[in-house]
Order: sequence, then structure tokens, then C-alpha cells
Amino acid sequence: MNKSLIVANWKLNKTLEETRRFINDFVPLIKNSRDIDIVIAPPFTSLYVACLALKYTNIMLSAQDVFYEDRGAYTGEVSAAMLVDAGCSHVIIGHSERRQYFHETDEIVNKKINASRRQNLTVIFCIGETLAEREQGRTFDVLKKQLEVGLSGIAPENIVIAYEPVWAIGTGKTATPSQAQEAHEYIREWLTSYYGDGAKEVRIIYGGSVTPENINSLMERKNVEGVLVGGASLRADSFARIVNFKGRRF
Ligand code: PEP
Repeated sequence: MNKSLIVANWKLNKTLEETRRFINDFVPLIKNSRDIDIVIAPPFTSLYVACLALKYTNIMLSAQDVFYEDRGAYTGEVSAAMLVDAGCSHVIIGHSERRQYFHETDEIVNKKINASRRQNLTVIFCIGETLAEREQGRTFDVLKKQLEVGLSGIAPENIVIAYEPVWAIGTGKTATPSQAQEAHEYIREWLTSYYGDGAKEVRIIYGGSVTPENINSLMERKNVEGVLVGGASLRADSFARIVNFKGRRF
């Protein structure tokens, strides 16, 4: 069985000082961190400060995005090698906010995954349907296309799939545990047909309005191997309550 994985996505939040303060407050609140993988994804500007502050912990560092070229005239972009240099072991790719506001296509997402795997970063690959797509009964078709294009030519090692229904992100509307389980089962079946035995290595985590109140019921579900947390990861006490969820084996 894979270890559970809990990821904090801070999005466009926190200065250097707020990053340091969060880590100082958060680390003493977590119970035995050996049986769980914890990852924090601050904004680019806070990565190196977070890397220093996390040095004597098991908590790992992620970026929220990456560019697919290794170097060159791409003003404003950051390469996978630069993320490794700043202390990252993980990178979030294909978040719905990037797809929505920055017009990222499945093809761009695939190039970013490729570039990140070349640098040995673990990729947290986000997929999920919009409300309209769910209401039209197209959820599985959308997930299938995102998976097929996003993972084209990509080996299963160090890939995490984050199922994030777009209608549940930052809205306070969580998918019910059974909606999450159903989507995770579909993703697991797809991965098995694509990767065979290698699919076992790929963890599937859920994201979308996860809170200390709903974490237990989500983590109880089969095939839910962790969570990606936005809003509720911004406060050390609330993120610690999520990490220390009730069903965890300490
Ligand atoms: C996210 O940013 O991936 C996310 C799930 O956000 P929230 O928890 O705020 O819905």
C-alpha cells in the first residue's frame, strides 16, 4: 500500500516572513510524520526560504508550476532544473487555475510533465471536470482525455494524479466521498490499463475544498490516497488538523 500524501497549495499567498512563520508554527503541531508524505507548495519567491526552514524535517517542497524549456529567452518562466536548485522534489502541473486563466492545454501540460521528469521531480498532475461537463455526463470522457494526452510518453514512476473537480476548488463545495471514490476508481482502472503493474506506484489524491471537518470521510474511501489542499492549508493549525486526520496510523 502506498503512503498517504497530503499537499498544501498556497497559490498566490504568503510573503517570505509569512512562509517562515507558517513552518515554525506548523512543524511542532504534526504528529509523527514518518508514516505520511507531506508536501508544501509555496509561491516561487518563497521556495528557497521554505527549503531552508524545512531542512531538519521530513516535509517536502513543491512548486506550483514549471516551464517546459530548460533555458532560453522565455521572460518570466522558471525551469525544472531551477526548481530542483531551489530545493523542490515535487511540482504541481495542470492545476485548473492554470488551465482556466493561463490557457494551458493538455499538450502544454504533457510537455511540462516531460521536462519535470527529466529532472527527476515528482509530478502532481491535476485533472478534473467542470460543473457543465459533470452535468452533461462527460466526467469520465474529460478525465480520459486529460490522462491520455497528459501522460503520453510518460513512465509511471514519480507520478501522482490529483483529481480536482473544478467546481469544488475554492468554492466550499466538496465532492461527496462517493463522487470522489467513483472518479478515483475510474482513474485507477485507466492507469492499470495504461501502465499494467506499474500503475500501482501512481498515487491518486483528491482536491477541492478539503477541510479538517471533511478529511476523515474522504480518506476513508478506497483509492483516495491523499489530498491536495488550497484554502485550508494557509493556516498552520488547520493544515495540521488535516495532516493529523483521525484514520491515520501513527
Ligand atoms: C487547490 O488549490 O488545488 C484546491 C483544492 O483548493 P481548495 O482546497 O481551496 O478548494
